[in-house]
Amino acid sequence: MTMTHPAAGGKASSAPLMGRAAEPTIFELSQPGRSSFQFRTTGVPPRPAGDLIPSEFLADDVVELAEVSERDLVAHFTRLSHRQFSVDLGAYPLGSCTMKYNPKVCDTIASLPGLAGVHPGAPASLTQGWLEIMVSLEAALCEVTGMASATLQPAAGAAGELTGLLLMRAYHAARGEERRRIIIPDSAHGTNPASVTLGGYDVTTVPSDDRGCVDLAALKAVLDTDVAGIMLTNPNTLGLFEEDIAEIAAAVHDVGGLLYYDGANLNAILGVVRPGDMGFDIVHMNLHKTFATPHGGGGPGAGPVAVSSRLTEFLPGPRATKVGDRYDWVTPPSSIGRVHGWHGNALVLARALAYIEIHGGDGLRKVSERAVLNANWIRQRLSTVFDVAFDRPCMHEVVLSLTTLRKDHGIKAIDVAKRLMEEGFHAPTVYFPLIVDEALMIEPTETESLQTLEALAQAFELIAAEALSDPDSLHAAPRTSPVGRVDEALAARQLIQTFDARPQP
Ligand SMILES: *Cc1c(COP(=O)(O)O)cnc(C)c1O
Repeated sequence: MTMTHPAAGGKASSAPLMGRAAEPTIFELSQPGRSSFQFRTTGVPPRPAGDLIPSEFLADDVVELAEVSERDLVAHFTRLSHRQFSVDLGAYPLGSCTMKYNPKVCDTIASLPGLAGVHPGAPASLTQGWLEIMVSLEAALCEVTGMASATLQPAAGAAGELTGLLLMRAYHAARGEERRRIIIPDSAHGTNPASVTLGGYDVTTVPSDDRGCVDLAALKAVLDTDVAGIMLTNPNTLGLFEEDIAEIAAAVHDVGGLLYYDGANLNAILGVVRPGDMGFDIVHMNLHKTFATPHGGGGPGAGPVAVSSRLTEFLPGPRATKVGDRYDWVTPPSSIGRVHGWHGNALVLARALAYIEIHGGDGLRKVSERAVLNANWIRQRLSTVFDVAFDRPCMHEVVLSLTTLRKDHGIKAIDVAKRLMEEGFHAPTVYFPLIVDEALMIEPTETESLQTLEALAQAFELIAAEALSDPDSLHAAPRTSPVGRVDEALAARQLIQTFDARPQP
């Protein structure tokens, strides 16, 4: 392996790892009769078909699976695993989604047989340890967010958003009110308006002002008693702290609305400031972003929702609860019901508690302080080569704009992002938030060293220089990955979802 770690001072290159040789599908590797396992015959005669499972539920046709040896199977998936970039390979400066390195000890703890091997249907009497983990995690998350209680059920941030909106509805309904509108700033993450619509509410958008924050006058103009609440993230999706948050909270509460905190940016404020103290009533957390569960490949996440005391009675149930000197499952009196099967993605919850415990309160604060420091280091360093969208101190992420490069040299944000991959880094977020033209959003996270930040900055500087001297080379990138530049619009419109394993004529 010839990849040099950026910190080692060499040019990082993912080229050797991301070979361009085509990898056949597992079905193309299939050979009739080949198999990865062998069963010993036990001598016990097989039960007749239909004996254990009623025959109407049995399939008539044999399912055609690929037939490969264990050796070929392992080689196939190992090769595939080397054709991509991951946080374990190097810096992943994707904005908005906090792709930090996840300590392996969290995985080790979540893999303990006493945790991983327990059936979710096991009774509380046999799973007191698991319930204690959930109660402890809930307490820790409430401490971090400044809230009274939480549900651990939602499977991700977006699921938490929908849960929060259903809680808002239950709260207003209990007061005999039916409110129809939710306010969202124009910088919001796409899941916010999507969740509002799914939750049966109408979206009212408020613009950002020239400092990148909610325009207070515009907000006050749309507030009335039809407003169920407002969804905000703070720092917002521009990486900027909403300094008027106390005034925003007072204005929304004045008309009887609730404040929902999108906690995807919690990595910026751990142990420093709490959403509950800012006036928020409902907070979701993305444990897979802030609290070290690997994500990005569609693996399980968790989006617990914490609420102020006036919303506790509506939380989804059952919740792990301390009753006397033991733990039990208790459903709140006016619960909105379940939002996930069983108890949520339990092993993600165990990882999050492990992460919180190994850091301790002071350690969590350092996580955020370093995340903010790293983002400001990058902002300052790159402000000489790119435009900074709102040039003032940022929180954990910074948004650059390539408008000037596009106008003068025909280079777009996507060109820089694709070219960066050739330098051994994951691409940053592009074209988000929507209100910044040619946006390039960088969140280095606290896990990257000064040496890695230096290598990342040098890579950007190299690309910026190349944009002037050899713009075509940026258009051609990426040249080192298994797949080059794809037509993303076409790929989204003409999705080929299946592979036809039958021999083609
Ligand atoms: C990631 C993200 C979400 C959605 O969270 P998921 O866990 O991906 O469902 C919502 N808001 C913001 C700002 C985010 O970054």
